[in-house]
Amino acid sequence: AKKKGKNQFSFYTAELEQQKIRKSKIEQLLRTAIERKEVSLCYQPIIDTVSKRIIGLEALARWNHPEIGDIPANEFIAVAEENGQIVSLGKHILKTALQHLKQLHEIGFDYLYVSVNLSLRQLRHHEFTALISQLLQKNKLQASHLEIEITEHIALSDEKCVIHNIQELKDIGVRIAIDDFGVGYSSIGYLRTFSVDTLKIDKSFIFDVATNPNTAQLTSALITFAHNLNLQVVAEGVESAEQLCFLEQHHCNKIQGYLFSPPVSFEQLVSLLHSSPSR
Ligand code: C2E
Ligand code: CA
Ligand code: CA
Ligand code: CA
Repeated sequence: AKKKGKNQFSFYTAELEQQKIRKSKIEQLLRTAIERKEVSLCYQPIIDTVSKRIIGLEALARWNHPEIGDIPANEFIAVAEENGQIVSLGKHILKTALQHLKQLHEIGFDYLYVSVNLSLRQLRHHEFTALISQLLQKNKLQASHLEIEITEHIALSDEKCVIHNIQELKDIGVRIAIDDFGVGYSSIGYLRTFSVDTLKIDKSFIFDVATNPNTAQLTSALITFAHNLNLQVVAEGVESAEQLCFLEQHHCNKIQGYLFSPPVSFEQLVSLLHSSPSR
């Protein structure tokens, strides 16, 4: 037992060491990733539950490095959030997403909106709303065609600048969505501070909504709660017909998930839009 303990210990330290090495490698490679055009965006359609038509898109960052290949979004976003690189990365993401949306509007899909994930650090900048306005103007887009996704963690921030920025975004007409709703935080007090437009129910709820009665009741309650506050509800991670059926029956407004489409490249999105029933 003693020997096993020792081996296990060295196994864990070796693994921790590996993780540290990978993290610093990612940090180093991320510095040049944008200029080398390794970071791109893919888009996952957001579907209207009733009409089954594509009404919006969530922009999701992708990083493909020529040597180490695809690095998961969760992994490099976390690194970028920690060291501050998320500020320039986030700017690149916003720019790209709005340029792409402009192109889609130009080829006739002018009803689509794009939903972009934000990090706390981006909202700490005084000029953030100015940047957004400038990007919207440059691409001749209305603010209502942009939704930003913030997590409850961000919404709970008590930093003046963050609160100010969220309110300012809302004032210029950008829509605010609470991402990953229902996990991690039990406080909903932030709903008193901000007027939010959308709640995105976390995919961990959707995962067993059709098989676990507790999850089903909770999800149904969340939808009713949101509707009483005049909020739209998006279910993320919809993978099965049974899950869709539940969400239809409970009047969830929008769905997103592999059942309809995984996140796809901009080019794939354009052909998907052309082959989908139009509005
Ligand atoms: P998220 O915002 O909750 O994004 C949803 C994640 O669920 C995406 O993972 C998406 O590919 C995945 N997904 C979509 N449909 C399904 C489904 O039917 N089943 C399952 N199991 N998963 C599904 P992805 O793209 O790997 O992104 C992971 C996370 O990384 C995102 O979670 C978000 O927190 C972060 N992220 C991605 N792009 C950005 C970005 O541009 N900026 C920021 N700040 N964070 C980002
Ligand atoms: Ca999201
Ligand atoms: Ca989410
Ligand atoms: Ca998430």
